Amino acid sequence: MAVSPHCTRCSAAEEDAIHCLRDCPHYREIWLRVGALSWPRFLINGCTDWVRAQAQGRNGTRFVACLWGIWKWRNNMLFEEVGWSVGEAWRRLCNEHDDIERFMNGEDDVNDDSWMARRWKAPPEGHVNLCVDGSGCSLLSEARALKLGLQVAWDRGYRDVICNTDCSDLLKALEDDERRQFLPILGEIRDLTSRSWNVSLSGISRDCNLPADWLAKKGAASPSMDLCLLDNPPSELEILIIRDRLAFP
Ligand SMILES: [Zn+2]
Repeated sequence: MAVSPHCTRCSAAEEDAIHCLRDCPHYREIWLRVGALSWPRFLINGCTDWVRAQAQGRNGTRFVACLWGIWKWRNNMLFEEVGWSVGEAWRRLCNEHDDIERFMNGEDDVNDDSWMARRWKAPPEGHVNLCVDGSGCSLLSEARALKLGLQVAWDRGYRDVICNTDCSDLLKALEDDERRQFLPILGEIRDLTSRSWNVSLSGISRDCNLPADWLAKKGAASPSMDLCLLDNPPSELEILIIRDRLAFP
């Protein structure tokens, strides 16, 4: 424990247990991210009562993972040279939460909504997952990538395809009649998806789309404009694919 009674991260005069674990503004970010402020009895007084009520409540596993994560983050800041950012602390505790879930319930029996770490999800048996990404952030490059990806999937004979993009603007634009008129490629994508195949289109976070992101950047740096199909991934890409497969966020 720190020798001084003051909180070293904010101006609070006393760093008691509840300040350290819940009330310090520095750690509030974690509770905000996990949505704890709407949990029943989250703001009650008394550290022991609070821990007991939350650990036994509906969000018990998340609560315990956050508590443990915050404690480790505090110690990291006090005792280690390089302090974690809030993103780093969050990433670590999400992984630990998922480890607890995995240990208690088994990988396959955990409800999809229960995971905290953002992860790529394997498609169901018999489906192909098409992850697309454009270079830069323009809608046009995202749309081109999607169209090309759908075309390749169709030409290869895949008929059950789950297509993911991290561009939510593209998904919105595809539903917007006016924008489709303005950008003809959107209509071409709609035509492709209306063919007789089973294709769904949904958004994923950028963290779950890293292999496609890597390929988009690689393609943008290449002088050639030709379509390049790789049968095997280059080693840098392979690492990202293995990471997805192991579901490390
Ligand atoms: Zn504080």
